[in-house]
Order: sequence, then C-alpha cells, then structure tokens
Amino acid sequence: ILRNTVQDLKGNIRVYCRIRPPLETEKSKPLFSLNVLDACSIEVEKTELLSSAKKGKSQHSFTFDGIFTPHATQEDVFTQVSSMIQSALDGYNVCIFAYGQTGSGKTYTMEGSCGKENYGIIPRSIDMIFSCMEDLKRMGWELTVKANFLEIYNEVIYDLLDSNKEQDSHDIKMVNSKGTDVYVSNLKEEEVASAHDFIRLLMFAQRNRQTAATLNNERSSRSHSVAQIKIAAINEMRKEKFTSNLNLVDLAGSESGKTTQRMDETKHINRSLSELSKVILSLQTHQSHIPYRNSKLTHLLMPSLGGNSKTLMLVNINQFDECFGETLNSLRFATKVN
Ligand code: ADP
Ligand code: MG
Repeated sequence: ILRNTVQDLKGNIRVYCRIRPPLETEKSKPLFSLNVLDACSIEVEKTELLSSAKKGKSQHSFTFDGIFTPHATQEDVFTQVSSMIQSALDGYNVCIFAYGQTGSGKTYTMEGSCGKENYGIIPRSIDMIFSCMEDLKRMGWELTVKANFLEIYNEVIYDLLDSNKEQDSHDIKMVNSKGTDVYVSNLKEEEVASAHDFIRLLMFAQRNRQTAATLNNERSSRSHSVAQIKIAAINEMRKEKFTSNLNLVDLAGSESGKTTQRMDETKHINRSLSELSKVILSLQTHQSHIPYRNSKLTHLLMPSLGGNSKTLMLVNINQFDECFGETLNSLRFATKVN
C-alpha cells in the first residue's frame, strides 16, 4: 500500500540518467569525478578555481529511478524501457524523452547507430511491438500500426516523411484537436506492416533530418525530433478496442547558447524545454491548469502527458571536464521533474 501511495505521489513519470562513455578519439579528454553511489544515485564533483588564490570544491548528488553507467549497453537500456512499450500495447499513451546537451548521446539512445546491437529505443520498440503482435493475434486482437516523423524547429513543424524541401506557408502544419485526439494537419502518416517497413521509414526520416541540418547548420541539434507510433487494436470476439500513442522524442540540445548569433534560437529552445518542464511540474503537483498550449511540443503531446499516460525521461550526460556546467544543468532539470 505504501508503495502504491509513493507511486501515486510521484505520478506516472520515471527519470533515468545515462552517462555517455568517451569515444576512442576522446580518451585523452579530462573528466570530472563522478561516483555511482548505488543503483539510483550519483555524485559529481569538480575542484574549481574560485579566485587566483582560492580553490573550491563543487560537489552535488542526485537521485534517479535508475542510472545507466558508461558500460550500459543499448540492450540494458531497453530492458528498463520495455515496460513502457508494453504499456502502449496495453492501451496507455506513452512518452519517452531523451534530454541533454548536444553530444551527450540522445540520438544514440533513441535511434542508435549501425549494427543491430547498437539499435536504440525506437527500432527496439518497433521490434517488440511486432513480435508481441503475433501473440495478440492468437488472442483475437487485430493491430494496426501507423507512424509519423516530425521535427519542431523554432516552433515550426517539419514533416520528416515529406522530402519536398519547400515545406513553406502553403501547408502550414498546425497542431489541431478533434475530441481528445490531437494531431498535426498536413502531416504524412504511414501504415506500418512490419518492423522492416518501419526501419525503412525511420531511415528516410533520418536522411531528411540530416539534409535539413546540412542546409541549415545546427538545425539537428536545435530541434526536437518526434517519432509517433499509433496503435489501434480491435478484438471482434471480445467486442473490445483501444488506441494508444507511443511518442519517442529526441529533444533539442539543452545547452545554453553563448553567441549572440544563436540567441534567438536558444530562446526558442530554452523556452520550449522550459515549457515542457512546466507541464511536467504542473502535472506532478496536480495543478488544475496545465499549460499545454504554450509550446508546439507540449500541445502535440497533450494526450500523452498526464491523465493515466506514462512518461519516461532519459537524461543523457557527459563526464568531460569542459561539460561540467551543462551536466549540472541537466541533472538539476532531472531532479526538478522527478
Ligand atoms: P546527441 O544526439 O545528444 O547530440 P549523439 O547521440 O549524437 O549525441 O552522441 C554523440 C556521439 O557519441 C555519437 O558519435 C554517438 O554515436 C556516440 N555515443 C553516444 N552514446 C554512446 C554510447 N552509449 N556508446 C557508444 N557511443 C555513444
Ligand atoms: Mg542528436
């Protein structure tokens, strides 16, 4: 009973921390000290030069629902995440977010890289959905899976399944709602027949995102990338049906911009990230008004944030000395929403 109460107070959000290992080429970079205290807490520490004469120690500890050390594999991560996918298959709306500064491993965590063992949460989720489908079929369930891929950059929505570069004012993509359903107008949505089919779409979306990033420098690090998987299930025998949304979100880099040139973008990003944390905080503290409509991302995710939907946040961090400030910011954000 106590456990349930704690669960209720905490709401339906879980927050994990993933520490990125240095790449081969980064092995010589200095690291700050990071101690994993137990399965759920870490302590970070850095000795700083406060003034020319004084040195100070900056030490902080943080608690999560779980920690993924630099040794954690993509499979280890998915093992923890898979209950969320199961929830989507049980009819719940689910959001999984990757948060962190650029270069902290968000895209690796969500999408992964070449080779099956490097597959991230998105391809593993779809594998799981299609392998569970067989069992569900035997119990009389017919599942339809649809997917869309979009990017939100400076509060403008781009369709990643549309290769037409001129996604301009003619087909402005608005967040609309019909009943409790929220959708984006003029957005391509494809029915997915197999895991293989989905991977093909994902790769198309990735290529589109990369092209856009090449044309518009930094766009990929400064935009939110959302993969939406919509499940519709019907059981004729039992006269039952449900729909659920699984939203997999690779958030914009959380770093604070330093150059004035990027100030405008930084403002947008920081605003939409802070709008997201405001929504999560209002949900956690059971506010009567949840400010979903203050940003495109929270508006779009409205049906999947709050209510009996489930949220998982993966906070990705770097251990490099030069990243200490940004790492602290990310850890503080995580503590705030947890
Ligand atoms: P972000 O999306 O946050 O900017 P990336 O996912 O692109 O960061 O990660 C930066 C680099 O580190 C990429 O080359 C990526 O493949 C690599 N990387 C990230 N996390 C890991 C990990 N856990 N193991 C191995 N390589 C990783
Ligand atoms: Mg990325």
